[in-house]
Amino acid sequence: VSTNGYRGRFAPSPTGSLHLGSLLAAVASYADARAHRGVWLVRLEDLDRPREVPGAADDILRTLYAFGFRWDEPVVFQRDRTHAYQAALDRLTALGLTYPCGCSRAEIARLGPPGIDGPIYPGTCRGGLPHGRHPRTIRCRTDTQRIDFSDRIQGMQSQVVGDSIGDFVLRRADGIHAYQLAVIIDDAWQRVTHVVRGADLLLSTPRQILLQQALGLPQPDYAHVPLLVDDAGRKLSKSLAAAPVDPSSPLAVLKRVWTLLGQEPPRSDCSLSAFWQQAIARWRIERVPASSMLHFQLERTER
Ligand code: GLU
Repeated sequence: VSTNGYRGRFAPSPTGSLHLGSLLAAVASYADARAHRGVWLVRLEDLDRPREVPGAADDILRTLYAFGFRWDEPVVFQRDRTHAYQAALDRLTALGLTYPCGCSRAEIARLGPPGIDGPIYPGTCRGGLPHGRHPRTIRCRTDTQRIDFSDRIQGMQSQVVGDSIGDFVLRRADGIHAYQLAVIIDDAWQRVTHVVRGADLLLSTPRQILLQQALGLPQPDYAHVPLLVDDAGRKLSKSLAAAPVDPSSPLAVLKRVWTLLGQEPPRSDCSLSAFWQQAIARWRIERVPASSMLHFQLERTER
């Protein structure tokens, strides 16, 4: 594969079939990688075994293939990577950046002031586990450092993680390493230079940058594509539109997604491979709407 060093990825969680919203992120990520003559990877984020739907991983890969996506290296599965997440957690602990926490979700919801992504951890276990408490989770200690980054679609972003999120979980009560940790370890390990993904993760990015900085890992460029929401403003994954995309008519679905991404439509009479050829040649990331949500009307055929 010819490349200028660009390495992109699509990292779906196998919690269900590919829906229109996840396809939108996949198309943007793939078009951006190919337009840069870059490498494109698929990583299955099957870390959260309890939420995994049997067969979903295979289903997602088959659907991506049917839509004409081609990945350049073997698919990485997060279930094989636990040792790497634990090693990173140990390193953060050696740096004094973690502590065990005995609080339950209900306690945090009761005591924590509202933050931008749920209640802010009230700091109960920060100074040591209170007497009689058992460790449940492991948290990352945050402070007042401001994290700034320029998103290629959403523009300048700024967040003080300590103020807006608070000390966040690195290992959950069920022993599973948190997404925030796993994602940066794998992005670094796979030498990902460009992350293109859904805007539901925009608020998570400062936590990820904070961890990259703590561990001395390179920071990829980020681009967050708008989230599809239905007429009622519901997140796609929670609405009827979360119905799987139909892999038997990939072209029609791809054209729809392409337009939602603000891109110039390809010629109407094309085949799947001609679609991708034209799409990659015409991809302009600056045309993607710089909003975190895109309202769209569900068509009958998509139900
Ligand atoms: N696995 C995450 C999801 O499906 C995406 C992670 C990422 O792209 O960083 O929502």
